[in-house]
Amino acid sequence: MAKILNYGSLNIDYVYDVPHFVKAGETLSSTSRNIFAGGKGLNQSVALSRAGGDVYHAGAVGKDDSKILTQVLSEDKIDFSNIALRDCPSGHTIIQVDSKGQNCIILYGGANQTITEADIDATLSKFDAGDFMVLQNETSNIRYMIEKASAKGLKVCFNVSPFTDELLKLPLEKCAYLIVNEIEGAAMAGVSEDCDPYELLDKLCVKFPKTSFVLTLGSRGSILKEVGADPISCRAFKVNAVDTTAAGDTFLGYLICNIATDMNRALAIKAATAASALAVQVKGATPSIPRAKDVMEFIKKSNQEVLTDRL
Ligand code: ADP
Repeated sequence: MAKILNYGSLNIDYVYDVPHFVKAGETLSSTSRNIFAGGKGLNQSVALSRAGGDVYHAGAVGKDDSKILTQVLSEDKIDFSNIALRDCPSGHTIIQVDSKGQNCIILYGGANQTITEADIDATLSKFDAGDFMVLQNETSNIRYMIEKASAKGLKVCFNVSPFTDELLKLPLEKCAYLIVNEIEGAAMAGVSEDCDPYELLDKLCVKFPKTSFVLTLGSRGSILKEVGADPISCRAFKVNAVDTTAAGDTFLGYLICNIATDMNRALAIKAATAASALAVQVKGATPSIPRAKDVMEFIKKSNQEVLTDRL
């Protein structure tokens, strides 16, 4: 089985319940605080592993505060021997949740932003051509990761999130897969956000002819467009969504794992869609990410036909 290396972010989420968001000059008491392991990278590794992948998470954390992060990885049987320990805080967020359930977030990159070229060389020396590498835009030295890994023959799967215009300067054409939502895709193609998704994909494929695309469209569904193949479209399952946190990360983890194990692509996207439909029905990030057997059971029980010619 191809190994899956996730060179990804690891964040500690400090979540404070507050009556309202703190205002300029105000000191506000919070009514409770909860601490969670998170970050797009960590969520995606958990999804990759629960989907059945052979997952290696690489990155960097603070030596004094990282136990919560490595514990979650170890509980999910994710190799974390390529995570460096630093003399600085781990990446973290400070999240206020108000009485209406809305949130606002301060992100501090911390150790995620200390990954060096030497770290990347040491990690990549343990992987071979044909292995997969997953990336998000929450770590340092992404250009070097893409260049070195693609030159070595790894299949680079880049989730261009959170999106910034700086990303467009990266050697994106060296990525095997780019995973984008409609807003990120539109920015990359230089079209408006309400562009028809198939037109958007056509534009992206002209711009990056050697790259496969995964376009996610929230509760509408998703499209997989691999190089040389017709697009495969999948509607989202109709479910009672209570929290869409980590829906995209769950979808990505399942889809990339299923591609890495060379699953039939229609089933691969259907399973990823089912996994994210299960995730949105549970509150939280990692606790909401389902296991493969529950995903397959959901597909068996559901009578919704989600694969379609056109969304
Ligand atoms: P991102 O958070 O990365 O923008 P999306 O919101 O596009 O990701 O969600 C990824 C996938 O999760 C979708 O393609 C869909 O299959 C599933 N999904 C998202 N929101 C819902 C929902 N409300 N109900 C069911 N499935 C959903």
